[in-house]
Amino acid sequence: MSVTVVGSGNVDLVSQVERIPLPGETVLSTGFATHAGGKGNNQATAAARAGATTTFVGAFGDDDNGARLRESLTGSGVRPLVRTSDEPTGTALITVSATGENAIVVNAGANATLTDLTQEERAAIAGADLVLMQLEIPLATVVAAAEIASGRVVLNAAPAQRLPCELLTHVDLLVVNEHEAALLGGADHLLTVVPALVVTLGAKGALVRTRDTTTEVPGIAVDVVDTTGAGDTFCGALVAALDEHRPLDDAVRFASVAAALSVRRAGAVPAIPTREEIDDFHP
Ligand code: ADP
Repeated sequence: MSVTVVGSGNVDLVSQVERIPLPGETVLSTGFATHAGGKGNNQATAAARAGATTTFVGAFGDDDNGARLRESLTGSGVRPLVRTSDEPTGTALITVSATGENAIVVNAGANATLTDLTQEERAAIAGADLVLMQLEIPLATVVAAAEIASGRVVLNAAPAQRLPCELLTHVDLLVVNEHEAALLGGADHLLTVVPALVVTLGAKGALVRTRDTTTEVPGIAVDVVDTTGAGDTFCGALVAALDEHRPLDDAVRFASVAAALSVRRAGAVPAIPTREEIDDFHP
């Protein structure tokens, strides 16, 4: 049993400010922190902490941020199959105002160089029981990996963007939030192409759809501290449960517990729960 996550790694540089600066303006921050991030990195971390044997295929720069992400992955038990790129490690410059508004500049950096999969990367994808991907790396690489995969392909179609049919025909399970589902033409339309779909509904939980069935998995009420990375925790935990051959509805319940636990803590990676925490949680 094994999971391979193909995706992005970023370092998030987060500044707290009274208000978002206008063009040309400089404001002083009231707080600053850096966190490991990027959807691929977050989801691989979540899968490994939830108990799956996990490999991460990605690209980082030859810099301190890259070293930090590698350390974070191995510290969570992920095998990093990571290329060293000439481009800098991806960054997200995040400015959060006192009212909770944000302004974000993402530099894809090394993530954009994850093209032309190597023999070793292809083997890690072809040999996995589950391959989990998102859309923060070149789309052609996502398509190529979906074609190579012999196990189940789970695609988290985030950030929202239109997708070629050649990709969706290789997807066994699509995970989207309401906004992404709408952009892709709605659940009914998507189910004409993919056999199964999970629509996450924030605090309300998630909807599990196949062509014949609909199951509502209610949200779990928790004290919310920070929802950053909730969707990523959900996806990682979901594939970990599927890797244990749990039925889809059951795997979504497990993922909902993991995601709910993650919103109770600040940050993305620091908030991702371990298997023990997920199993011990009784709402
Ligand atoms: P995204 O962050 O990708 O937009 P959602 O907001 O739908 O995705 O959240 C993903 C999952 O995280 C939800 O299905 C739910 O399980 C969990 N979640 C998100 N927000 C909360 C919350 N406030 N309380 C409990 N669980 C939450």
